[in-house]
Amino acid sequence: MEFLGGDSVVRAGLAALYPPRCACCNRVLINQSDRSGFCRSCLPRIPFRMRSQALLSWSDFGPAGYGRFYPVVCATWYRDPIRQMLLKLKFGDAPDLAHALAKILVCGWNRFGMDCRGVIAVPLHQRRERERGYNQAGLIAAAFAKQVERPDWSRHLIRNRITQRQSSLMTREERQANLHGAFSLTGWFECPEGNDARPVVLVDDVLTTGTTLTEAAIPLWRNNIPVVGLVVSSDKQTQSRLIGRNTGYRSALPETGGFGPTLNRP
Ligand SMILES: [Zn+2]
Repeated sequence: MEFLGGDSVVRAGLAALYPPRCACCNRVLINQSDRSGFCRSCLPRIPFRMRSQALLSWSDFGPAGYGRFYPVVCATWYRDPIRQMLLKLKFGDAPDLAHALAKILVCGWNRFGMDCRGVIAVPLHQRRERERGYNQAGLIAAAFAKQVERPDWSRHLIRNRITQRQSSLMTREERQANLHGAFSLTGWFECPEGNDARPVVLVDDVLTTGTTLTEAAIPLWRNNIPVVGLVVSSDKQTQSRLIGRNTGYRSALPETGGFGPTLNRP
C-alpha cells in the first residue's frame, strides 16, 4: 500500500469535508477535473458576450481623449446568473465568489491574446471599504492577477473622497462631476518596469455608463500608462459609429482558448 504524504492527506481530508461546489447554484461538483468552478447546467447559462460584442471603446463613454489604442473588454452581459453572483458578492458578504468571477474575466481576456504588465482594481473609498469589509472589484482583480500571473497594483490607485452613488445621478454631466478628480495614484508610479509598453488592466465588476472606469483610468493615462479596461459584466453596447474601428482591432487580435468548447459562444 502506498502512503500519502502529509500535504496530500490534508488536501484529501479538506476535499472530503469541503467538496468543490458550483459558484452559481452551490451544487457539489461531481467532475473534479472541471476547473471552471461551475456545474454542467450552470456553465452554459453564463451570458458571455459574443466575441464581436466583447470589445467596447473608451470613446463609447465620452470624449476622454485618451485610451485610443486599447479597448474595454466586457466578459458577460449583466444577466442572471452572473447578475445574481455580482449582487451577492457586493451586498451578500460572499467574497469567495470573486474567484469564480475572476475565471470569467480570464475567459474574456484570453480570447484576445493581449498581454499586460499589471492589474489594478477600481478602488472604493477607504471608509466604504471598511464598512463593506472588502472592495469587490479588488477581490476580483486580485484573483485575476493571480490567474494570469501578473502583479496586483491595486493599492496604488486610491479614491480620494466619498462620492455619491453613480446610480443616483441622472445625467452624464452629473456623473462626471461627481467623480471628477476622485482618483489618484500613490507613491509608486515612477513606472515600475521602465518603458514597458504593455497596458495596465483596470478591473471593475460592473460597467453601467463607463464614467467610473474612465475617471479611474485618467490618473494612469496622465502618467502615460496605457490602460485596458476589463469588466465582468455590462449591458452597454458599442456605439455604431465605432464598429468599424473595433472590427479592425478585432481582426488584429488572435483568438485563444477560454474554458473550452462547451460555452455558448462562437
Ligand atoms: Zn451550478
